[in-house]
Amino acid sequence: MRLSYVCERQQKELRRQQAPGSCPYCGGKVEAMDVEVQSKLCFLPMCFQIKRRYFCTHCSKRLEILFE
Ligand SMILES: [Zn+2]
Repeated sequence: MRLSYVCERQQKELRRQQAPGSCPYCGGKVEAMDVEVQSKLCFLPMCFQIKRRYFCTHCSKRLEILFE
């Protein structure tokens, strides 16, 4: 069985929190946001994933995890 086409994606913000480290572009504060991503395959809910995204609160750049 091959699943290749996902027609709809929904995102729900779960929580935000201050993350350690600072933005490499402007030195601003970094926030971590947990989002719940729901992938649907044509009306059939497929899976829920929790993803953590980092972004700068000052310049709004999306950041990848470079610090731990
Ligand atoms: Zn920044």
